Amino acid sequence: MNPNFLQTPIAYLKGVGPNRADILKAELGIETYRDLLHLFPNRYLDRTSYYKINQLQPSGADVQVVGKIIHLKMVEQKRGKRLVATFVDDTGQMELVWFRGHKWIKDSIKINEPYVVFGRVSQYGSTFSMPHPEMELLVQHQQGLKIAMQPIYPSTEKLSAKGITNRVVSKMVQQLFLESRGLFPESLSPNILDELRLISKTEALLNIHFPKNQELLARAQFRLKFEELFFVQMQLISKKMLRKQKIKGLPFENVGENFTTFFENHLPFELTEAQKRVIKEIRNDLGSNAQMNRLLQGDVGSGKTIVALMCMLLAIDNGFQACLMAPTEILATQHYNGLKELLVNMDIKIALLTGSTKKSERTLLHNQLENGNLNILVGTHAVLEDKVQFKNLGLAIVDEQHRFGVAQRSKLWHKNDTPPHILVMTATPIPRTLAMSLYGDLDVSLIDELPPGRKPVTTVHRFDNNRLKVFGFLKDEIKKGRQVYIVYPLIQESEAMDYKDLMDGYESIARDFPQPEYQISIVHGQMKPADKDYEMERFVKGETQIMVATTVIEVGVNVPNASVMIIESAERFGLSQLHQLRGRVGRGAEQSFCILMTGHKLSEDAKTRLQTMTSTNDGFEIAEVDLKLRGPGDLMGTQQSGLLALKIADIVKDNQILQTARYHAMQLLKNDPRLEKEENAPVLRAFTKMMANKTIWNYIS
Ligand code: ADP
Ligand code: MG
Repeated sequence: MNPNFLQTPIAYLKGVGPNRADILKAELGIETYRDLLHLFPNRYLDRTSYYKINQLQPSGADVQVVGKIIHLKMVEQKRGKRLVATFVDDTGQMELVWFRGHKWIKDSIKINEPYVVFGRVSQYGSTFSMPHPEMELLVQHQQGLKIAMQPIYPSTEKLSAKGITNRVVSKMVQQLFLESRGLFPESLSPNILDELRLISKTEALLNIHFPKNQELLARAQFRLKFEELFFVQMQLISKKMLRKQKIKGLPFENVGENFTTFFENHLPFELTEAQKRVIKEIRNDLGSNAQMNRLLQGDVGSGKTIVALMCMLLAIDNGFQACLMAPTEILATQHYNGLKELLVNMDIKIALLTGSTKKSERTLLHNQLENGNLNILVGTHAVLEDKVQFKNLGLAIVDEQHRFGVAQRSKLWHKNDTPPHILVMTATPIPRTLAMSLYGDLDVSLIDELPPGRKPVTTVHRFDNNRLKVFGFLKDEIKKGRQVYIVYPLIQESEAMDYKDLMDGYESIARDFPQPEYQISIVHGQMKPADKDYEMERFVKGETQIMVATTVIEVGVNVPNASVMIIESAERFGLSQLHQLRGRVGRGAEQSFCILMTGHKLSEDAKTRLQTMTSTNDGFEIAEVDLKLRGPGDLMGTQQSGLLALKIADIVKDNQILQTARYHAMQLLKNDPRLEKEENAPVLRAFTKMMANKTIWNYIS
């Protein structure tokens, strides 16, 4: 085959032409032969079996039935006429229905002749009906040459309106196979083909479009999914290898005084095994010659902050500065206060920089950063501003990374001549398998253990009409000296309405929990940062027992004495958000509670979410459910990783294949990093082409 054959503009394909080419491009993004070849059917109609009428199920599947039309009539209705045929076989009767094209059908239909009808059945009362069936006289059907499994291609209304029906698309694909003589270059190595018993590329493409039978279809799907995931992994892994070779890291060779002193004298608790392991992993990175780019995952409350601190001490011991970025002012402030307290007996200079840092302070801070007097800078996005220059930034830590865009993260790279080591921390649990494909080019560390003595949060679901009981429970808890969060949703599109909900809620709580017995804090997005801090501070100090808030408190906030989390309109929150919110309690020694309040009207998904929350505290389990409910689209990083652009594989459903693909990509690159071996020539060729075509999206970090 001419190597550029697949690049041929689709207009040149026989039966397409410029007009249809325009529509194909606009509707399906098909510009070249290759695009058409990779337009995979959504589903297939199995025309290998025939159903009896009494076997029909209201499943919506397409089936074929053999029988006769015994009667034809017009039915008039308000909304228009329809033509109804009574269709029978030896087991029963059903209806065939047409809403258009009546005359043509009436004229062409033969009464009492055996037909094969084919289409989707639905049930009305006790009668099955098949609208607009495909039909063929049985005699013709038996003579015809048939594709056993008929492909159904993705389509749009416009496409069918312009006459590009499924049949037409299918014809185009057939034409493409004709012109190519059905030969497509192999893109996998003989080793992999052998080991996984994969069918060849040519055979796979043929069978994905025109499967000979179910088994070959399944093998074609497997082969193409594998291939797709394999090349995504090839890209991620080779990128990582390249980074490790090319990007020199700042060597942190010493484990010096600060680290040791802190570890021996000031560590407020014993580290968990997981924390120790992760610190070791990070130390290995920092001590090597390569720049670290590591993702630290750990469920809410697993103790990431102390890990961050110890890494920053390593940086300082090696003569570098460190910074810690958090997504909100509240969180940055809390980190700053927490770190300052941990470092109280040590000679470390630490400062806070946020949007509300005063100009005079800011100027001072800039100077200290530039002349190296400041060791640690904690802050919000403000840290990223160009004005903020370090003398020698060695380590940048980003907390709760899903709040930061990729572009922002990359800004950190340019804060130093040599890029600083980067540690990204997240409590949004990403299913392990997904993390590895999403962040295939990052190293991943995992804190999979909570500090000892934590009691799992007891979670219940209560309907709004039980509010009084819930409030009674709150009063009991407050009497025991505990504190309580009450959280309201805040969704961007309806901010005004949410604000009203919050205020209404606040008023009603203020009525039920009157002063001076009860003190209430309120924090929401429309408050000035200073006011937020003030209210937060009161709650942290225990001056108020109730914190009414929007999701601004979602991440990071740490008040160990708070033991109850009430989430209002819980059905409006996503699973990961609910889990984050719940993570605000259960931080002290007391038994903690999370109460999910909702109305009675709940969608199926909402029910699943609530049920998941009440049945488990495991962030990873929750993440898996979340992934299944929402698909990968909403998960962080998916846009950049190209996993959404997958044509045939599905990272959730095909996770097993993904792992196989990753394994083989890793093996291959390990044994032949530059793809020089003869046997890997097909991989090299395909890979080079994909990169050139940007078929695989660029993943930047
Ligand atoms: P997250 O991972 O959610 O950021 P934090 O770092 O805020 O968690 O830690 C949660 C709480 O657990 C803090 O109060 C912290 O002091 C405490 N903590 C962390 N590690 C340990 C440990 N090994 N033993 C006991 N308490 C710990
Ligand atoms: Mg944290």
